[in-house]
Amino acid sequence: MTPDLPSTPPRCYALVPCAGVGERAGAGGPKQYREIAGRSVVAHTLDALARVPRLSATLVILAPDDRQFETHAPASTAWVARVGGQSRAASVANGLGVLVERGAGDDDWVLVHDAARCLLRPEDVLRLIAACEHDAVGGLLALPVADTLKREAAGERVAATVDRRGLWQAQTPQMFRLGLLRRALAAAGDGVTDEASAIEALGHAPRLVPGALENFKLTWPADFALAERLLRTRA
Ligand code: C5P
Repeated sequence: MTPDLPSTPPRCYALVPCAGVGERAGAGGPKQYREIAGRSVVAHTLDALARVPRLSATLVILAPDDRQFETHAPASTAWVARVGGQSRAASVANGLGVLVERGAGDDDWVLVHDAARCLLRPEDVLRLIAACEHDAVGGLLALPVADTLKREAAGERVAATVDRRGLWQAQTPQMFRLGLLRRALAAAGDGVTDEASAIEALGHAPRLVPGALENFKLTWPADFALAERLLRTRA
């Protein structure tokens, strides 16, 4: 009997959900299009991903009525699809469908990365890929929680202190096989705020890969000034 021929090694794709409105970031339009250190947030993000040679392609998911991307990321060579949904999970699920239409297979890896994490470094992505590409499940960049954690009661008073041992903050990229991630998101619905929680709900245990403090998600108004300072220092 002829042994099975080795199949082509799985490819890695980046998928960047970029269809949010960024309500917590304050006035000034969607946070991914705010200018910091001379370029839009998403332009910085895509530049970091473009410097990862292991990625076969990057697909950016925009809101259906987005008219700003091409102005704010003029040099981008990423694929673009205006199939964003009402939630981040819906935007990612729709993006996975576009990757399939463009020839990605169930065994290919997808690295989902928030457009709003523009301080990503290519070496962090490479570390994630190295840690996960032979893993049965996949994993995510994350940081062990350093601070003591408080649960809030009404009126910004402390109700309880939460034991921080064993707690990590999830970041992105989060790297999973396309087929598994599609099934996980279809089962999880709109409520999940990251890919790993959908995978966990299927009974899997994603790998935690230590990330970098700098790879924070621009969320609050003050985050933009901090990101600007960090990017200018790098330059
Ligand atoms: O709102 P949040 O900070 O969790 O958004 C994380 C990422 O998900 C952002 O890059 C945002 O543009 C994206 N997103 C999306 N579709 C939505 C909501 C958020 O692509 N409906």
